[in-house]
Amino acid sequence: MRPLYLTNTLTRSKELFKPIHEGRVGMYVCGPTVYGDAHLGHARPGVTYDVLFRLLKYLGYKVRYVRNITDVGHLEHDADEGEDKIAKKARLEQLEPMEVVQYYTERYHEAMRQLNVESPSIEPRASGHIIEQIEAIKKILEAGYAYESNGSIYFDVRKYNRDHHYGVLSGRTLEATLEGTRSLDGQGDKHAPYDFALWKKAEPQHIMRWPSPWGEGFPGWHLECSVMGAKYLGEEFDIHGGGMDLMFPHHECEIAQNVASRGTQGVHYWVHNNMITIGGQKMGKSLGNFITLPQLFSGDHKLLAQAYTPMTIRFFILQAHYRGTLDFSNDALQAAEKGYKRLMQAWRDLGSIPAGSRSDVEGKALSSEVLAIIDAVMDALCDDLNTPIAIAHLFDAVKLINGGKLAPGDKVALKVFFDEVVGGVLGLKDEEAGASGKAEKALDGVMSLVLEARKKAREEKNWAESDRIRDTLSSFGITVKDTKEGATWTLE
Ligand code: ZN
Repeated sequence: MRPLYLTNTLTRSKELFKPIHEGRVGMYVCGPTVYGDAHLGHARPGVTYDVLFRLLKYLGYKVRYVRNITDVGHLEHDADEGEDKIAKKARLEQLEPMEVVQYYTERYHEAMRQLNVESPSIEPRASGHIIEQIEAIKKILEAGYAYESNGSIYFDVRKYNRDHHYGVLSGRTLEATLEGTRSLDGQGDKHAPYDFALWKKAEPQHIMRWPSPWGEGFPGWHLECSVMGAKYLGEEFDIHGGGMDLMFPHHECEIAQNVASRGTQGVHYWVHNNMITIGGQKMGKSLGNFITLPQLFSGDHKLLAQAYTPMTIRFFILQAHYRGTLDFSNDALQAAEKGYKRLMQAWRDLGSIPAGSRSDVEGKALSSEVLAIIDAVMDALCDDLNTPIAIAHLFDAVKLINGGKLAPGDKVALKVFFDEVVGGVLGLKDEEAGASGKAEKALDGVMSLVLEARKKAREEKNWAESDRIRDTLSSFGITVKDTKEGATWTLE
């Protein structure tokens, strides 16, 4: 198996990936909180961990990929304060919270499907794991790292930090975590501002509530990932991914909960993708630069010069290394669109594999040029998922393809490689060759037949028939115009 290197946030270094169980990988990624449409900030982890999932499978691992849906407990001010994001949306729209969850989960799935992101192996919901969360809280209480306060349970960070290291992932000290936390008077029932909720008492107006040994309430946001990771991947598993914005406090709290409830950090490789900025700025609803994926795909946003196809967005994301920042602009997306189209054209130009020639190629000597490209692409992908370098080497192949002098064996080998790696690992698909491309081609053909029949009718001065064809087409939204060069048509 080709060695794979990943940058582990926990050790802050690039490490050779060694799974706990030979040949098998357990991977957990924090999924969306489903109270609104998916946006660029969801597209990046969606695509990044999809490529990691696909690459691990391509390398020969059997992968169990768990990506959760947060449908309870994610409060407005990150973790512990404010209204539940889903409950708030439900209140504003006069819906049941689970209607909001259902609607936006389906919208999220659709956006991911358009980005050609494969479904995870398991997609658990936080609200389906309340019992497990209550059990974990009991264990943390028993271990002495949590306290009850006015019906809520909080994690005792100061006590934990005396025995362990709170900040092992983010590198923060306890003092540093105080900066940026709310002033003491805003901390409510907590003993210290850096403590975080494991269980929150439900106020009378709170809709999403469950019984617990401490009264009716709901779990804290950080707990679900600790519990669902352990449930589906075991108390120790290989890879945990998520956006860099989740490293602190979400993942830091996850580690503390794991150690406090089961005596192990649980995760061997922490992987974090960087953020997408817009014109160098963070994306935010209050900044007016918040662009959802449906808006990107339709072009319907004041910051968008045009619509961008899902594959343009995917290619744009892959053109940057996942650990680097990625700045969104129309120029950058238009450049990505060009690059994507050039790559797809070259893939198309490789043609189809003549029957039987795939096995002809195996074992035959390929040119050193093609072998070097294939090796360089795979080396880059296995070097901490370096997709921009991999794509740069793929463009070396594009040059060879466009040169038109490929030996037949090289051509077949590259075609197989493009199918497996451009399509299979990078997850790019040729949008023009998709169903809509086929439908357009068919419509072109049908329209030339119909217009030929109309031309014949006009030549025979059969105006009734010529008008009937024109009017019928018009009722389908197709407008026919007669010009000197002949009839043209447009579809509304
Ligand atoms: Zn999480």
